[in-house]
Amino acid sequence: MKLHEYQARDLLDQNGVAVTKGRVASTPAEARAIAEELGGKVVVKAQIHAGGRGKGRLVNEGETAAMYEKLTTDPANNAGQVRGERVGGVRLADTAEEADAAAAAILGKHLVSIQTGPEGKLVKNVLVAEQADIEKEYYLSVMVDGSVAGHLFIASAEGGTEIEEVAARNPDAIARIGVNPGAGWEPYVGRTIAARLGLTGDQADQAAKLAEGLYRTAVATDASLVEINPLALLSDGRVAAVDAKLTIDDNALFRHKDIEAMRDKDEEAPLEVMAQDLGVANFIKLDGNIGCIVNGAGLAMATMDTIKLAGGEPANFLDIGTVNDPQRVVNALKVILEDKAVEAILINIFGGMARVDTIAEGVIEAHKQMDINVPMVLRLVGTNLAEGEKLLEESGIDVVRSKELGEAAKRVVEVAGAA
Ligand code: GDP
Ligand code: MN
Repeated sequence: MKLHEYQARDLLDQNGVAVTKGRVASTPAEARAIAEELGGKVVVKAQIHAGGRGKGRLVNEGETAAMYEKLTTDPANNAGQVRGERVGGVRLADTAEEADAAAAAILGKHLVSIQTGPEGKLVKNVLVAEQADIEKEYYLSVMVDGSVAGHLFIASAEGGTEIEEVAARNPDAIARIGVNPGAGWEPYVGRTIAARLGLTGDQADQAAKLAEGLYRTAVATDASLVEINPLALLSDGRVAAVDAKLTIDDNALFRHKDIEAMRDKDEEAPLEVMAQDLGVANFIKLDGNIGCIVNGAGLAMATMDTIKLAGGEPANFLDIGTVNDPQRVVNALKVILEDKAVEAILINIFGGMARVDTIAEGVIEAHKQMDINVPMVLRLVGTNLAEGEKLLEESGIDVVRSKELGEAAKRVVEVAGAA
């Protein structure tokens, strides 16, 4: 689950990370009031679940795709500016009146950035924060990384830009520093990070403390990513986070009810929200026309590969897990059928602890509850196969059956094409 910048800042602040002061506003008048509190000189920032806001552009709803095209083909002449003609998602204001005007220009518009895709994102809120007088920008993030089996910091003295760009152009500028999960936080990690950022003296101490705060935030919130870009050295000598991105591991949300309450479902893919609400945990929407239901993430990946090999495009990733309740199958089918792009469905089950008859019951029940006119190919093997086949036979529902995955994939691609 992603958080908005204004939410991430609060969590960072609670864990000892220096952030510039600021609060969220949903109207220009609120933005003006916050700017007055902060002394007038502020930055007004669109709050959406995507980065690249500063260089993004604000447009009306019907104009997002055309703007996305311009931004991706000719960024130099189209990117948004913090001051100037081309209004983007981050605007500097020197007075409360300017903050009011900046908020009015941003709120209710659609922000298009290279990260939003051609649909852009409607801006409902802005963050109004003290304007940082930035001397130099750095990049600092910490994430859970499988290759080090723990938390890994990424630090670079080149901040402000896309880290992927720095990595491609100048890989040596990026430092990777792991944290020993057995020992937890050790001060040398902070000092190493500060040194790699090229900071010395008091500024190095500030950066080391900030890195410790990032680690504490990551652990306390079960974040898979905490990213500060830019981390800034300010003209008054402070080292502070000017932007914040926080992604929480969905599997840990059950123990963070306070964080879960911050979820902004408007920012998430509607089908994925529906899947979560129905308890279909591992669902990811894709762009193809063949829906799939599979038990096991590895098998789901292999199934998507096989569909592609057969010349098709999967409409989703769906790992239904170990099914012991037919309603889970019904719910999974509800989500898939909600996607109007879906022209056929492949159900690939390798019954182990999940029993084939339970899956069959779910498919039959779905046909009772819904008017399904999308062709369905079933490839079922394993525990209680005979019982499952008997149920399907007796039900008289119209599905294609296949014994082998390669063949099942070919069949589903055929029926999708014919649909
Ligand atoms: P992003 O584009 O979505 O990553 O949003 P950021 O918050 O990182 O803002 C984009 C850029 O705007 C930053 O890299 C800074 O260069 C600039 N910026 C953001 N906030 C401030 C600020 O308070 N003062 C100044 N001078 N520049 C800022
Ligand atoms: Mn940023």
